[in-house]
Amino acid sequence: MEVKHICNRCAKSRMTVKSCNRLRRSLALWYQKHHRFLPWRQTKDPYAIWVSEVMLQQTQVKTVIPYYQEFLNRFPDVNVLARADQQEVLKSWEGLGYYGRARHLHAAAKIIVADYSGKLPQSWKHIRQLPGVGDYIAAAVLSIAFNQVYPVVDGNVKRVISRLYQIDAPVNKSSSYKCFYEIMKELIDSKKPGLFNQSMMELGALVCKIRQPSCTGCPLLNDCRSYQADTVTDYPKRERSRPTPEYRIAVGVVLKNGNLLITRRRSKGLLGGLWEFPGGKIKADEAPEAACIRELKEEVNLTVNIASFLTRVKHAYTHFKINVDVFICNYLSGTIKLNGPADYQWITLDEIDRFPFPKANHKFIPLLYKALSEKVDGQERII
Ligand code: SF4
Repeated sequence: MEVKHICNRCAKSRMTVKSCNRLRRSLALWYQKHHRFLPWRQTKDPYAIWVSEVMLQQTQVKTVIPYYQEFLNRFPDVNVLARADQQEVLKSWEGLGYYGRARHLHAAAKIIVADYSGKLPQSWKHIRQLPGVGDYIAAAVLSIAFNQVYPVVDGNVKRVISRLYQIDAPVNKSSSYKCFYEIMKELIDSKKPGLFNQSMMELGALVCKIRQPSCTGCPLLNDCRSYQADTVTDYPKRERSRPTPEYRIAVGVVLKNGNLLITRRRSKGLLGGLWEFPGGKIKADEAPEAACIRELKEEVNLTVNIASFLTRVKHAYTHFKINVDVFICNYLSGTIKLNGPADYQWITLDEIDRFPFPKANHKFIPLLYKALSEKVDGQERII
């Protein structure tokens, strides 16, 4: 018997009830034997599962593990998280990237405490309304924590489905989402939806990998169309993406009476709420030193001169890359007027650790320590 037609683009992916059942069984057996021991799989606490899923979005498992454990030590339940200061939450997220996730998690915790007596809502409608909870997080939490039948669609799942049924819809196009979702809806094990979702993601992570999938050890080998047709390397399809733009940035570490100036970014948008050393984009045909002096004047209204060049660091975000020239600057004149940043502070070198900084800043902070506290003739020297 044939399961109902999925959609035009996925017509090839018609699945029989028999093959769906076989696939569920094979996958469940494989998962039982081969899944990784991960800390968030040892808990039934919906809060902990939610935290793990938020962290795992956009970030690799091995990076998440220490952050997850540390985060739960610091904020063991939703009430503690809701009461915490946003800066404390951002500090605990420092280095994990995509800081909007931390801000949303924090905001959602406040709503859960205020409106749901500290319990994660169990309905799609309510959980989906929480800040930062999109289709993926909602489906993952509801299926894993509450055993509700919502299929997850992440990068691993799309890759497995794409190869399994020779799906031509590009995995990196948002319009393809529905196609993969509809197939997952047919496939999901309604008795154990959470386990099924985790099994599909685990198979993508461990077996049906981006490069060199281990087909011979795959439990879905007999049902995999691309394997049978010897077209595994043709899937998943991707739409060619535009080249990533690269920007040159000049940053100034301004020194005044032994203190350093840091500014806080506005709470919304990229790196929102984090602290950084002020600076900005270098214009075409502009020297980095001139850009640094200009940016400091425009952004914080200070007149400075360049004391020395510290270093150049490179950093990649999802949609662009930056090359950052970092200068140590002497304060000359002016009182601070903020044009862009939400806040500022003059801090000592030792206080840097108290503030959450973006990763690009962390790439040069160790050099800054060295440069500003290097010993000269046995004396501690602060430039
Ligand atoms: S047989 Fe190979 S391509 Fe097919 S699902 Fe398994 S690992 Fe992926």
